[in-house]
Amino acid sequence: MAEIVLKNVYKHFGDFTAVKDLNLEIKDKEFLVLLGPSGCGKTTTLRMISGLELPSDGTINLDNKDVTQLRASKRDIAFVFQLFALYPHLTVYQNIAFPLKTQGVSKANINKEVSRIAKLLQIEHILKQKPKQLAGGDLQRVALGRGLIRNPKALLLDEPIGTLDAKFREQMRAELKLLHIESGSTTVYVTHDQIEAMEMGDRIAVMNQGVLQQIGEPHDVYSNPINLFVAKFIGSPGMNFLDMNPSSSDGSKILTFKGDGTDIKLPDFLSEKLLNNKKLTNITWGIRPEDVSIVSPGSENSLNGSVYVIENMGNHKIIDIKLKDGTLIRVRELPNSKYKIGDNIAISFDMNMVRLFDTESGDSIMVQE
Ligand code: ATP
Repeated sequence: MAEIVLKNVYKHFGDFTAVKDLNLEIKDKEFLVLLGPSGCGKTTTLRMISGLELPSDGTINLDNKDVTQLRASKRDIAFVFQLFALYPHLTVYQNIAFPLKTQGVSKANINKEVSRIAKLLQIEHILKQKPKQLAGGDLQRVALGRGLIRNPKALLLDEPIGTLDAKFREQMRAELKLLHIESGSTTVYVTHDQIEAMEMGDRIAVMNQGVLQQIGEPHDVYSNPINLFVAKFIGSPGMNFLDMNPSSSDGSKILTFKGDGTDIKLPDFLSEKLLNNKKLTNITWGIRPEDVSIVSPGSENSLNGSVYVIENMGNHKIIDIKLKDGTLIRVRELPNSKYKIGDNIAISFDMNMVRLFDTESGDSIMVQE
């Protein structure tokens, strides 16, 4: 059992606040991904959970025990960095055995444990080799082995596969996920790669500038971003955005696209969201590429434009549509889509998937009561 709870955690470096009022409950055996751009405070958060860094304020509990001031070595948490940090003069066996050796574990037990870990990580054949003889994927497995050998309550991984090439990364993602299930360790995984986060996380915690923006299951964060930051950060290609004004007499039923003055009639559930937010004058309309359709010009509730760029992705096409004011909207189409560059078309939207944001604050108005 390893539940990790951070309450009102801050980290200041001099005048700079790297982590602000962070509240996070990581469930037992969960695979939680900390996701955000470079410098948003992910590593600092991980280091505070591990005990390598002390919070400036707030508390960290591990299994209902306050460990805020406890040294890293006393926390029963393993930490694996992007840089493998193996001892170059030791063999793979000796590197993996090292944590147990320092704890005075008997040779026979060390042997048993190294065998168990080597089998789990499928590195039995390289136990006699030294790190410099190994490729990136194997080095990473060894680093993981050294972390896992202590049977830690929690495993903290900081961009552990960031330096590997794309194909290896794909393989390692699947392996890490499997390893997580087999080892049963609560895992906190730091990455700035949203695709990695979506693939691996049971839940994703999105951070920006030291502040937790949203935490949820990948599908929920993708479909219901809490603000424009999350909406822009998650998804590849990203969400499309249009600047809109409410323009009906009651300020709700119709939104006008600022780019060319076209009115879009809203379904009742979206109108209601706007009625609850009567003061809103600038609205950002968010829609994912897969929720936009290409239709004939003049279709109801559509915006006119032309085909600008076509990217053939093999199993689908991404078509960039240029609207009259120059706004680009990306549409996901089937691979056999017949549209050509320059075609005059229009786009319509799956209204159930439209997400409205207050342009000024960036907050979603979809999640409010
Ligand atoms: P990256 O992916 O680039 O590592 P990150 O989200 O992990 O980014 P952190 O490493 O947690 O970000 O850093 C958050 C901020 O705190 C950064 O602006 C960083 O420069 C700053 N910072 C981190 N450690 C220290 C330190 N020891 N002293 C001063 N500033 C620090």
